[in-house]
Amino acid sequence: MRPGTDQQEAPGTLYVVATPIGNLEDITLRALRILKEVALIASEDTRHTRKLLTHYDIHTRLVSYFKGQEARKAAGIIAALLAGQDVALVSDAGTPAIADPGTILVQKAREEGIRVVPVPGPSALAAGLSIAGFEGPVLFAGFLPAKSGQRRVLLESLASQNHHLLFYEAPHRILKSLEDCRAVLGERRVFLGRELTKLHEESLVGGLSEMLALLSGRPAVKGEFVVLIEGGGAPPALPADSVVEKLRWHREQGDSLKSAVQAVKDELGLPRSAVYSQALALWGKGKHAA
Ligand code: SAM
Repeated sequence: MRPGTDQQEAPGTLYVVATPIGNLEDITLRALRILKEVALIASEDTRHTRKLLTHYDIHTRLVSYFKGQEARKAAGIIAALLAGQDVALVSDAGTPAIADPGTILVQKAREEGIRVVPVPGPSALAAGLSIAGFEGPVLFAGFLPAKSGQRRVLLESLASQNHHLLFYEAPHRILKSLEDCRAVLGERRVFLGRELTKLHEESLVGGLSEMLALLSGRPAVKGEFVVLIEGGGAPPALPADSVVEKLRWHREQGDSLKSAVQAVKDELGLPRSAVYSQALALWGKGKHAA
């Protein structure tokens, strides 16, 4: 209650704040202001968060909120929110509740009618995806299961997906995970983002076998990984109508079959064979020429 009134204190706000995934400069101005202004910061590892706060001269009180104790820890934080205090939730790196603690606190806050506000910023998922150069939709799988059998079952369920597959992996499991990916998904193109935004940042693109050979040839595999594996489902249907239409247009301009195929292939970004077979039919040179 507010002193002198019979009104209940309005609950505080839960801010879910993204913090750097390596480079301390990767934090938004808003995140710094919120971390300074809230009454309490709920942190996955208070010693880790303290380093960030010290760097930015922030002295807000920290409480721990870590995996395995989430439900118990959430109760105290919810009590503070209900008493009218604003709270910021941070994880060790990146965005809380993305393969990190946070979901239970967010759920409980919602159940209590507490406002939950995102303060977006770094995430290894976005950082990796932004530099992989893979076109098309992506399915984020978080961490793959730690046990090979379970990992393979999950990978089998995803094998026919057209979506690229993005997951997080720790250095001690990366080789085994990539081996399982190759065994279940077959040879595919893969992007590996290692130690992104850190001193030894590295991004690698190649076939799964190539990446396995490269990493296993190193004396030690170190650092955190974002892995993006090319989707493996049926290739998108060819826009046959537009191929034929475009070929017909070139033919009407008096272009040769060869130059029309080249132009349409380049324009639509299709394999030469896909355009050539239709050109043969149109020019009346194929088996099934109309
Ligand atoms: N919530 C975090 C986020 O939004 O990025 C992810 C936390 S999860 C516990 C940690 C995993 O994220 C690591 O094992 C690694 O796969 C990935 N990761 C975190 N930082 C990374 C970095 N700097 N470079 C590459 N991957 C990173």
